[in-house]
Amino acid sequence: MSRILYDAENQITNGYRKNVHEAVDVVKKWYQQAPVIAHSSGEVVLVQTGKAHNLGSTGNESYGNFVKIKHEDGYYTLYAHLREVYVKKGDLVTQGQQIGYMGDTGNAYGVHLHFEVRNTYDVRIDPTPYLDADLPKEDRKLYYQAYDNVKKYWLPNVAVASSEYAGNFGNPIGGIYADQYRMRVHDMKKGYWLPWVENRNDYAGNLGNDIDGVQVENATYRVHLKGGSWLPWVSKVDDTNQGYAGIYGRAIDAIEIK
Ligand SMILES: [Zn+2]
Repeated sequence: MSRILYDAENQITNGYRKNVHEAVDVVKKWYQQAPVIAHSSGEVVLVQTGKAHNLGSTGNESYGNFVKIKHEDGYYTLYAHLREVYVKKGDLVTQGQQIGYMGDTGNAYGVHLHFEVRNTYDVRIDPTPYLDADLPKEDRKLYYQAYDNVKKYWLPNVAVASSEYAGNFGNPIGGIYADQYRMRVHDMKKGYWLPWVENRNDYAGNLGNDIDGVQVENATYRVHLKGGSWLPWVSKVDDTNQGYAGIYGRAIDAIEIK
């Protein structure tokens, strides 16, 4: 049985293709229409209604009437081109609950359900494996890691709030990578703050140059001084360099985020 169509089997009319069609289009077997049900329990986080058939439309308009649900494990599902929508933003829905009826609103060549699955970063992934199965259970831990300027390599990932730290006492660190944090570091050699970086798009630091200050937004963290000890925990950051961890001129050899 389908996890997205009420009392039906899926017939796929358009499959997933990366960067082209990052969704799966389905109808009920034998090209029939059907009510659309919630794939899994969750909270309705986005609803668009009042849209008509609109071939050639783009962006959110192309979805027509749609429902987006956030699930307990952080994944999202999205149901587009609906003729009718039975839920509103903020509703808690259960697996199998009817949320709408298949239609051709937005940019749709005929009546079908356009179904997307998005990961915890809201990035579309291939929904095909989940048409009749549970969403993935992902490791929800956040990790960070430090670059050892003496050994010249990235040290292993450390989980946030694990009571472990990233670093080798005695060896200054030259870079920090972190999941889902915005951060910047102070380059001791150059004597200024390097640009802010976000997530793992980039690391904070100039590898090879010791770090003597760290700022991490929305985190509680502390640093260890080379040849010294741990400095107090820091949890506030602003753009005036208040609330950083470190002492200018003293190399940092470890960081801990909790
Ligand atoms: Zn589609």
